Amino acid sequence: MQKTIALVAHDHKKSDLIDWATSHKAKLEKHRLVATGTTGGLVEKALNLPVFKYKSGPLGGDQQIGALISEGGLDALVFFWDPLNPAPHDPDVKALLRLCSVWNIPVACNRASADLMFGVESLCDDDYQRDMPNY
Ligand code: PGA
Repeated sequence: MQKTIALVAHDHKKSDLIDWATSHKAKLEKHRLVATGTTGGLVEKALNLPVFKYKSGPLGGDQQIGALISEGGLDALVFFWDPLNPAPHDPDVKALLRLCSVWNIPVACNRASADLMFGVESLCDDDYQRDMPNY
């Protein structure tokens, strides 16, 4: 059954998201992809898949995805937000994550969580190894 999956990444996390999405392309291409503007354009180009693009996050895209959630139209969110840099639209980011909790939407905020959400392994499998960030 086709699901609607939203992809969002802050600027310093976009390459991470593209990398992750590329490695999960076989799974993602079976579903309807939506994204904030800039992220969507990058994913579309990298994966050569159609992505419905909302406005850029700082211009209201996070809120549009929040509205989609409250209308019952979203099944999962992969949101690589940046924990090390302030965002001008931080209230929108919080609001989006809040709505995921309100509506019990699966949300992955980093690569390990996204791997587990879309992979075949679970955290309890002995062989799952998360990547360690190298700052
Ligand atoms: P963008 O928005 O994909 O348009 O960069 C993401 C965000 O900053 O929330």
